[in-house]
Amino acid sequence: FWDYFNEQMRQEYNEVAYNAWFKNTKPISYNKETGELVIAVKNPIAKGYWETNLSTKLIQTAYAYGNFEVLPVFEIDGEESPERFKAPEPPKKVPAKSTPVASDFITKDLQLNDKYTFDTFVQGEGNKLAEGAALAVADSPGSFYNPLFIFGGVGLGKTHLMQAIGHQMLKERPNAKVVYIQSETFVNDFINSIKNKTQDEFREKYRTADLLLVDDIQFFAKKEGIQEEFFHTFETLYNDQKQIVMTSDRLPTEIPDLSERLVSRFAWGLQVEITPPDLETRIAILRKKAESDGLRIDDQTLDYIASQVSTNIRELEGALVKVQAHATIEKADINVNLARDALTDLKLVQKSRGIQIPKIQEVVANYFQTTVSELKGKKRVRQIVVPRQIAMYLARELTDASLPKIGQEFGGKDHTTVMHAYEKIEKDVRTDSEIKNAIYELRQMLEH
Ligand code: ADP
Ligand code: MG
Repeated sequence: FWDYFNEQMRQEYNEVAYNAWFKNTKPISYNKETGELVIAVKNPIAKGYWETNLSTKLIQTAYAYGNFEVLPVFEIDGEESPERFKAPEPPKKVPAKSTPVASDFITKDLQLNDKYTFDTFVQGEGNKLAEGAALAVADSPGSFYNPLFIFGGVGLGKTHLMQAIGHQMLKERPNAKVVYIQSETFVNDFINSIKNKTQDEFREKYRTADLLLVDDIQFFAKKEGIQEEFFHTFETLYNDQKQIVMTSDRLPTEIPDLSERLVSRFAWGLQVEITPPDLETRIAILRKKAESDGLRIDDQTLDYIASQVSTNIRELEGALVKVQAHATIEKADINVNLARDALTDLKLVQKSRGIQIPKIQEVVANYFQTTVSELKGKKRVRQIVVPRQIAMYLARELTDASLPKIGQEFGGKDHTTVMHAYEKIEKDVRTDSEIKNAIYELRQMLEH
């Protein structure tokens, strides 16, 4: 195991850092009973570094590797009595020592963002299934959609929806025990509970929840020990008909080394995807945000901002904040020109992602097994027309090329043709699941 751990770290650290912390560091003894692993380090600085930065990694790796416990104890080479290893107190992550009561969890552990409620959530094509499921769960927790598994890309509202369920439940049952947790925190809590011998409290905390919200569960990938622990938490809650909600950036089956039994249990309830918002939804989100911030922005400007950020709602909100800041600094009203100025660097970022029209044409042609010259050509058969329109749509969504410029790149077509193609696909994306899926996959290919 020691060699394995070293190899892992060698990949993570650069050579200098690796030599500084790992050379002349060796395991001396391991006690199977207690898990105590005595490690010799060369000096007090190295000891400090290991204690703060490497012990958690070591513990985690041991779990992932062979599902065994280690309690690292560091000894400076030549030192007589090894000082017992004590982890530095991580800020507030150590479970409380006293017997917790429901209200403790709400004040200490529950960190729901006040803004993430159903009221502030804007419904659109890409999220309405997920929103519907979340509402149903909030309405009757533990009954039909258990567990609820919400998945989708970054910044699309997974955390928002999940927390909205928590808020709603607390509104109806103020004494309910709602536990919201980032999956990394679950991992850390678990490790700390082993170190501090507070596993009972750890279990108590999660297994007595009325509603357990676990965010970004993809971080359980490859962590066998954690998965095992979570499995038992899951079983207990599920059997008590307590609601479990999880989010992830992908489906359970796509999470590396997620145990079979978790994969199958996650499928017992409902798995629902959030997909990127269409232009209309993006505008609606901006409008709502502007209203709640007391900003006056005309439709044309909202439209402009929404068209600049196409996939990620967090970035969309960021763009609005930028425009707002720009207006404050310039002491000017918000309009399209000002928004354009404010967002120039954003465009540079998008450009530097390298999305150019020829690239879009190439990827689309490949995807539909046709050729770039067919896309640029004039053939009016469906097998070509649809890919051509999709390519034009993506050119408009992903680059800042004007309509005439796009027309030019497609073999000199009129800008009204481009406009028509854009509107057609924009509509199809909402009504035709094949088109929707194609757009989704093409975006993924182009943007990553
Ligand atoms: P994720 O967890 O999927 O990465 P978040 O839930 O953190 O995304 O959402 C990112 C930001 O976008 C948050 O500020 C959230 O409030 C906002 N947001 C996402 N979807 C919506 C929506 N449908 N309506 C309003 N705001 C949204
Ligand atoms: Mg999130």
